[in-house]
Amino acid sequence: GATIGVLGGGQLGRMLANAGSELGYRFVTLDPTPNGPMGQVAEQIVAAYSDAEAARKLAQQADVITYEFENVSSEVAGMLMQEAYVPQGNQLLHTTQHRLREKRAIEAAGVQVAPYREITSVEELRQAVEQFGTPCVLKTATGGYDGKGQWVIRSLDEVEEAFSTLSKAKTELVLEQFIHFSKEISVIAARSPRGEVKVFPAAENIHVSNILHLSIVPARISDVLRAEAEQLALKIAEGLQAVGLIAVEMFVTDDEQLYVNELAPRPHNSGHYTMEACLTSQFEQHVRAVCNLPLGDPSLTTPVVMVNVLGQHVEPLLDRMATEDELAKELHVTAKVHLYGKAEAAHNRKMGHVNVLASSIEQAMAWIERTGIWKDEWSSWNK
Ligand code: ATP
Ligand code: MG
Ligand code: MG
Repeated sequence: GATIGVLGGGQLGRMLANAGSELGYRFVTLDPTPNGPMGQVAEQIVAAYSDAEAARKLAQQADVITYEFENVSSEVAGMLMQEAYVPQGNQLLHTTQHRLREKRAIEAAGVQVAPYREITSVEELRQAVEQFGTPCVLKTATGGYDGKGQWVIRSLDEVEEAFSTLSKAKTELVLEQFIHFSKEISVIAARSPRGEVKVFPAAENIHVSNILHLSIVPARISDVLRAEAEQLALKIAEGLQAVGLIAVEMFVTDDEQLYVNELAPRPHNSGHYTMEACLTSQFEQHVRAVCNLPLGDPSLTTPVVMVNVLGQHVEPLLDRMATEDELAKELHVTAKVHLYGKAEAAHNRKMGHVNVLASSIEQAMAWIERTGIWKDEWSSWNK
């Protein structure tokens, strides 16, 4: 069978390799950390992403190249395009690596984002905060994740400190109006080089301390809004000529407006529920898309809640797994555990996830609450 080369070797790569192996593909990852999540299940070239020699080696071994890590420099991706088949190209990568470029591209596709302004000086910031009103959110244009590189400005007094702190990142800054959302949702679309597109069902996402805690599917929104969100993701996939997966994070307001928050051109944490709850997982779909195979059926087969397993949750989860789960029987739920094989269970580090399949969202939520494993998260968002 053909070999798929993957830039990045974290959990997304591991689950991609597991899904793609089932279709007969071989996987090689390029990642600087030996024996990481993907290195345990695939061949690995241990080197920095910027190592041109290593990238060339990957290109020689692979028939198709994709990425699971979006901060791969677009120059490296461009170089790989000279030497190998990179169906996703490097343009979307370049766009989504920078919040300003990303917002402009979303708007060009005819989709709305929160009002924003590029910020290059503290005076500009003060002016923009006065214009938008507080709260508003200052973000670094590149490199942010899990809420890092962000400052929620709650009063004009914070302008100088916010500017000087985020300026240390040596990247452009962008100020966004604060959206008083009633829900956060995401939709993952897939598009293949032949132009076929499909979307997964919208997920309702709950974050705690800026880290995804729960994805609830079906999202508890109206059918009209659900259809609108799914259409919006298709519009972005087509407008940006994406190949492979593109995850679209959105805010929903009380008056049922949708604003796109950000994009990720790869499998997404909020799509892990697809592994057992859809006829095709996001990982299989990504492989199908980059290999230009017909896309799979993304239909949902059951209500599901995905809960992330962070470092502090691993031990209590392993304890629970070691005995019969009477609670799961009582609630008629099936809890499917996925662990990524990371050695160091640091606090708040993503170590795995559990897909809780149930006949209703309420049953799945009851299992998560009553296990007590996520009691800290539960008390902070459920207040
Ligand atoms: P990720 O880990 O998803 O890549 P990130 O660090 O790139 O996160 P964002 O997704 O931009 O950060 O923001 C993190 C969270 O902060 C959002 O999910 C949302 O809850 C909140 N947030 C961000 N921007 C806004 C905004 N303009 N208005 C209201 N809330 C916001
Ligand atoms: Mg992000
Ligand atoms: Mg985000």
